[in-house]
Amino acid sequence: MFKKVLIANRGEIALRIHRACKDMGIKTVAVHSTADNQAMHVRLADESVCIGPPMSKESYLNIKAILSAAEITGCDAIHPGVGFLSENATFASMVEEHGFTFIGPTPDHIQMMGDKITAKEAVLALGIPVVPGSAGALESNEQAALLAQKMGFPVLIKAAAGGGGKGMRVSYSLEDLQEALTEARNEARASFGSDEVFLEKYLVHPRHIEIQVIADSHGNVVHLGERDCSIQRRHQKVWEEAPSPAISSKQRTELGKIVTKAIKKLGYRGVGTLEFLYENGEFYFIEMNTRLQVEHPISEYITGVDLVREQIRVAAGLPLSFTQEDIKFQGHAIECRINAENAETFMPSPGKVLEYHAPSGPFVRIESGLYAGYQVSPYYDSLVSKLIVYGDTREECIRRLNRVIGEYVIHGIDTTLPLHKKLTENADIQKGDYDIHWLEDVFFKDADKK
Ligand code: ADP
Repeated sequence: MFKKVLIANRGEIALRIHRACKDMGIKTVAVHSTADNQAMHVRLADESVCIGPPMSKESYLNIKAILSAAEITGCDAIHPGVGFLSENATFASMVEEHGFTFIGPTPDHIQMMGDKITAKEAVLALGIPVVPGSAGALESNEQAALLAQKMGFPVLIKAAAGGGGKGMRVSYSLEDLQEALTEARNEARASFGSDEVFLEKYLVHPRHIEIQVIADSHGNVVHLGERDCSIQRRHQKVWEEAPSPAISSKQRTELGKIVTKAIKKLGYRGVGTLEFLYENGEFYFIEMNTRLQVEHPISEYITGVDLVREQIRVAAGLPLSFTQEDIKFQGHAIECRINAENAETFMPSPGKVLEYHAPSGPFVRIESGLYAGYQVSPYYDSLVSKLIVYGDTREECIRRLNRVIGEYVIHGIDTTLPLHKKLTENADIQKGDYDIHWLEDVFFKDADKK
């Protein structure tokens, strides 16, 4: 097993990885920008190295600085966390070339799944159904128009290199198609340095259902069931739950079987998530994330598996410590993403946390680097805390979540906690009756009227 791991990330996810390492007897090295001197991941790590100024490009995305930090501290592995360099194939190869273990999949698999077009082609060939759309990248606006007419509007234009909901535009008719194509291409070029786009049928009332998998380097693949991440704003997840209120255990078993078979055939290693849209009883693959997901704790609650520990073990070459038959799905878990944003306008709210009190009680988990006196930086993602709650039933879970949100004190900055409180009290949510557009279409429309 590794003796010392460098965590190439910040915030709650860096802390999560630090904790898994410490529980396994592994020493940790934090890296940080000058803006994060006082961050909790830096304070708790065994050692820390400042790798650059606040801008991510010069610190958390600075491959040379990260590799130097691993070298001078004598690390034997690097965990990339979530976001930043976690799906960067070049980084993964450079880590290995410099003699460290990359805690993640092979660079080839990262590359294949990092491009939404090659990812769809690869999984289709492995027997997984995908959202209907263009066979590859769009060559011209004329080709897009012909295809869109054939498929029928609405259609969705997506960036091949897309992520974080960027480079995506819906087109409802031939009249707005050209403009949507231009906008998607411009946004894709600015965000990803590539304006390659493709077309997909725009599903009108789907749910976002994703399957968590983990594979070792001995050919064992296990799935940990699904997460329902349909509560979204601007294609970004806000609230996630496991299991999905819309999926039967028969559907879970069937989809799980198809997915694990495909992942095994691919020779994949590490944790991964296959994202699907689910509409009218059918699943359609949209993309695969070749890393840990922000929402992994809900799967941990319902299966009893420590995913980060297992991820580190398989990276070290060990076999999975459980089989598919060992995995029993139990109870219900919900995660609320708490952002430093106004709960109604979603305006970012960086600043100093004046008072902080974390809620507690049975089956309550907080993943956060917040503390009283902490300065929330404007430079990074606004996710400042994840509140994860478990219950024997969905009803109990929502009731507990409502109580726990009421106990949570974060003063000094605006957060999205009030939005989550309203969600726990909403009848549609309580019934589990929502799709990916619900939060924007119904909830905010209704909230605006009041
Ligand atoms: P990103 O990588 O940018 O997050 P995804 O492909 O994962 O993009 O899609 C993000 C979200 O966008 C999905 O969860 C879903 O809400 C919406 N979406 C993606 N593809 C479609 C589609 N074909 N029809 C309708 N909504 C879609």
